[in-house]
Amino acid sequence: MADVLNDFSRAKLDDYVAELFVEEDDAFKWIQEEAKQQNLPAISVRAYEGRLLQLLVWMTGAKKVVEIGTLAGYSGAWIGRALPKDGKLYTLEMNPKHAGIARQSFERAGVSDRVELIEGPALQSLQTLAHSHPFDLIFIDADKTSYPAYLEWAAENLRVGGTVAAHNAFRSGKVLAFESEEDRQMDAFNRALAASKRLEGFILAIGDGMAVGVKKA
Ligand code: SAH
Ligand code: MG
Repeated sequence: MADVLNDFSRAKLDDYVAELFVEEDDAFKWIQEEAKQQNLPAISVRAYEGRLLQLLVWMTGAKKVVEIGTLAGYSGAWIGRALPKDGKLYTLEMNPKHAGIARQSFERAGVSDRVELIEGPALQSLQTLAHSHPFDLIFIDADKTSYPAYLEWAAENLRVGGTVAAHNAFRSGKVLAFESEEDRQMDAFNRALAASKRLEGFILAIGDGMAVGVKKA
């Protein structure tokens, strides 16, 4: 039987999923266009990964969500759109330029009533945010070298049954052959998730890999 999981098929299948389930409206298009115009790095989640984040919101019945790494607010807009009216997304960003664009993005996407952007280094912001625990969903997508620390925070501050999700679990394949400290720390993160006594983990092989973990009782 042919290997259905070769790279070629996987990319094609991601496109297939996107075609079936993913639709970006003008707000999402505006965010990506603005990010490009303002020379932000093109490292946001893909539309189908945004859709996956929405599914995680619905599957966990999330009302209180934390996102680490806002950029232009693209993934935050996906999450915000999935939240109920009384839901809340705290999104953390240390780059003021990114934060400024993200605020406009949340306005455009019609989610600014549900989204609170917290500016500053995430590890610092998380210390304060811990006072508002527990959270239903925590999405990690900032500096890779801090992923292990973010995982610790998530395990500590999720409610039982809550979910942590982390983008770039595969590092474009470099978790199999490190080329940088970021690659090494991503591997350390995946291994810590696998070994965690507080979380049941897995990696969803879509896009660049979405690591997920559910908090145990
Ligand atoms: N989640 C976004 C992409 C985030 S890119 C999306 O999919 O649309 C990573 C972001 O994390 C960048 O904007 C970067 O400025 C921010 N970042 C990196 N290290 C950080 C830190 N220590 N604290 C807060 N933000 C950080
Ligand atoms: Mg990412």
